[in-house]
Amino acid sequence: MTTSDPSTATSARLDTADLLGRDSFEVDDEYAHISIDPAVCRACPHHACVSACPASLFSCGSDAEMHFDHAGCLECGTCRVVCTPGGIVRWTYPHSGFGVVFRFS
Ligand code: SF4
Ligand code: SF4
Repeated sequence: MTTSDPSTATSARLDTADLLGRDSFEVDDEYAHISIDPAVCRACPHHACVSACPASLFSCGSDAEMHFDHAGCLECGTCRVVCTPGGIVRWTYPHSGFGVVFRFS
C-alpha cells in the first residue's frame, strides 16, 4: 500500500512566476483588449486591480498614474469584477489568434 506524503507534494509546487512562465502569449500590438481611463483610476479609492490581477499587470507609479499593459493577460476577468469605480472602460477577449495559450505541463 502506498501513501501520499503531503510534505513532498507541497515542495513540488511551482510558484506563481514559474506557472506563468509556462504560458505563452500572442500579443496584439494593434488592439488592447482591456483599457483603462487614467482619470477615473487617479480618483480610485482602492486600486483593487493592483493586488487582484494574478499576472500583476496593473501598477501605480510614483507619478500616481495607473499603468496597465495588456500583454501577459490571462483573460480571467478578475479586474473587471473588482473595478467598481469604472476605470476599466473596455474589457473584451483578444481577437482570434491572439491572447494567452495555457500550458498544462
Ligand atoms: S480598480 Fe478600476 S478604477 Fe481603480 S485603479 Fe484599478 S482599473 Fe482604475
Ligand atoms: S483579465 Fe485577469 S489577468 Fe487580465 S488584466 Fe484582468 S485580472 Fe489581470
